[in-house]
Amino acid sequence: MGTLLFTHPICLEHDMGSWHPEAPARLKAILDTLGDDQFAGLDRREAPLGTMQDIERVHAAYYAETIFENVPKSGHVHLDADTAMNSASGDAALRAVGALCAAVDSVLKGEAKNAFCAVRPPGHHAEVAAAMGFCLFNNVAIAAEYARQVHGLERVAVIDFDGHHGNGSQNYFFRYRDLFYGSSHQYPAYPGTGMEHETGVFNNICNIPLKPGAGTTEFREGYSEKVLPALRNFAPELLLISAGFDGHVRDPLLQLRLETEDYAWVTHELLEVAETSCNGRVVSTLEGGYDLSALAASAGVHVKVMMEAAGA
Ligand SMILES: [Zn+2]
Repeated sequence: MGTLLFTHPICLEHDMGSWHPEAPARLKAILDTLGDDQFAGLDRREAPLGTMQDIERVHAAYYAETIFENVPKSGHVHLDADTAMNSASGDAALRAVGALCAAVDSVLKGEAKNAFCAVRPPGHHAEVAAAMGFCLFNNVAIAAEYARQVHGLERVAVIDFDGHHGNGSQNYFFRYRDLFYGSSHQYPAYPGTGMEHETGVFNNICNIPLKPGAGTTEFREGYSEKVLPALRNFAPELLLISAGFDGHVRDPLLQLRLETEDYAWVTHELLEVAETSCNGRVVSTLEGGYDLSALAASAGVHVKVMMEAAGA
């Protein structure tokens, strides 16, 4: 069993404007790194198109329809102050959703131990009926419901180590006993959510707010003392990872001070919990990360640790 890599060329064409940090160059930098010899063992697949049915397990139908109706033939259409679409955005969003659902299929069928989805747009800020923070659809929430409703799983966890809080994921997971969301993120920072007292209706949310300037020590303590024990206790049947790398010391959008090695560490720790809890079944997907070389290096070590765990 190995590690799958799902991606699609259309994810390189989704573009929100030449000034925008969530740029095609991010994905290109990651794919260039994953083209290196040390990643030759990846099982590479083209992301299929997701469906409206997949999206509507989480999002309001009118919202999903409005998004696709407003995809422009040329130029950009703005959905909020910092989220926009060009002509490729609708298809890229469908490939992102399709990548996650196909990765869940493959991992649950035992075709691979784990999978990484190198896709954009990202998803963790997207709310049930609103685009937000560079995100159109909440890819991990859609994957969690796909695993539950199509494959009959009960308990699914998302761990989100993006440097921002995944408000959309938390809000969706908040009232479901069988969905667990754990997040480390800078606070205060965009989007302003993710305080420690936000614990979900069933104590199924675990937030580690990190002060600007926090780094390796605070990050690892937060996982060792809070998120990992809570995740172990929840015992997911599938672990999804919102893999954002904008907590890196070199990232221009935030003031956290994580090093590339911290992403290898947290990946290793998460896979160890998954190994005990669900035979190592993990699907990870790209969220943020805006310094191109830090992003590529961090995503590289993340995928490398997944491959080592899968024996690839
Ligand atoms: Zn982020």
